[in-house]
Formats: sequence, C-alpha cells, structure tokens
Amino acid sequence: MIIDSHCHLHDLAFTDLRETLRTALAHDVWGVVAVGCDASTNARTLAAAAAAPKSVWACLGFHPEWPQLTDEDLDLVTTQLEAHHGRIVGLGEVGLPWYSLEGRGDAAALMTRGRARLDRLLQLACRWDLPVALHAPHGAAVGALAALKARGIERAVFHWHKAPADVTRAIVEAGYYVSVTPEVVYRDRDREMVAWVPLDSLLVESDGPWKYGGEFDGLPSGPWFTSRVGEEIAKLKQMPAEDVVHHLSTNACRLFDLVWA
Ligand SMILES: [Zn+2]
Repeated sequence: MIIDSHCHLHDLAFTDLRETLRTALAHDVWGVVAVGCDASTNARTLAAAAAAPKSVWACLGFHPEWPQLTDEDLDLVTTQLEAHHGRIVGLGEVGLPWYSLEGRGDAAALMTRGRARLDRLLQLACRWDLPVALHAPHGAAVGALAALKARGIERAVFHWHKAPADVTRAIVEAGYYVSVTPEVVYRDRDREMVAWVPLDSLLVESDGPWKYGGEFDGLPSGPWFTSRVGEEIAKLKQMPAEDVVHHLSTNACRLFDLVWA
C-alpha cells in the first residue's frame, strides 16, 4: 500500500472523489496528499479532505507559476492558512517560478517577486510548523533550497524534482525529500537520479491529473499511478517491491506527520 504525496484533487478530473479514491485503492494507493494552488482550489482541497478524512490529507498552497495570481490572492491564501492551519498537513504547492519565466523580458523581476512571496509563505510554515511541498524545477531549485535554509525549515519535499545532480545532492544532504512522478518509468534523467538518491530521501507522487507519456499515454491520470512508480523505484534499487513501497509510505508519513492507518 502506498501514498500519493502530491495530487490535485481539486481538479475537475476528480469531481467524483469517491470513485477516484476507490480506483486508487484498487491499485493499492490508500492515501493522497492533496495540494492546492490558490484560494479557490485550496477550498476544494479542504472539502475533499473533510469528505474523506481517512484517505485525503490537505495542503494549502499558492502556485508560483500561475501568472494571474496577485499579491491580493496571496493575502487570501494567508487568511485561509490562519483559519485552517490546524487541519492541514502542509503548505503546498508553493515555490518559485521557472517555466513561466521563459521568454519574459521581466524574468529577473518576476523571480524577485516570486522569492518574496515564497519567503512570506515560509514564515507561515515556520509559525505553524508545517512541512512544505515545493514547486522549484531546474534552475529554481537552488533558490528554493536557499530560501528553506534561510528560514530554518526542517521538513520539505521538492515535488516532481528535476535539478542538476549537485543541487539534488545538497537538497538530500540538508535532509529534504525529492519526489518522483510516473516519468521515472520512461525518462532517463529521473531513473539516473533515483539510482543514487537514498531511499530515505524519496517520495512518490502522481501530480494528477497531469498526463504522462510512455506506458501511461492516453490513460486517465490519478493517484493510482503511484503504485507503478513505487514498483519502478524497487527495480532501480534492486530491492523487493514490498519493502520499497513500505519505505516510501513511511517517508510520506514522516514528512507530513500522517497517522499510519
Ligand atoms: Zn502539482
């Protein structure tokens, strides 16, 4: 049995929550850490966790790549965090922009704004001792790592992690997790990373409803993909699948302080 450490259950693809969780369970996925991106998706995430408290755990977030989000939207999210911090398991997803900076003449200014916003959110994570689920791909990872360290954040995961090996090494050495998606089944970059990152530092996720290629091409995306991710990690580690899946679930429980059902 495995835990999906990052899924967008607020998405319309998962309107039928009971069916989503039933399908997940049929694939040995017994729990989902659900992340939000702004005030309205956060509200839907809280509703999902309230509807299925034994298998859905909510994080509230503010997505760093959503171009329409303003500082007023960030105020709404901080108000939500003040109201709900006691019933969530983390802050996420939050982070730094990267893909949305491509081709922008004001990329440096947008990154500066992104850093300030992230720091505001990290202060709240500190105040309520919440772990952080980060979106900080490629060149954004090093800045996010510095931001975590500067605020003394102890628990964090770099979701759908991709960064130069030296940055990944620094993340792992700092005690943070890196999370792997179904791409590990068919993408060499992810496979190489999983081969050397200690199992103690790995999480698995679907980032559903994100669509994947390879053997997942054309399939509806959701938490059910994570058991296949766990199986592939076991192959790469040359360890029994059952042990690896147990280890990955324990990692998720440790990071988000989940009660093992
Ligand atoms: Zn996501």
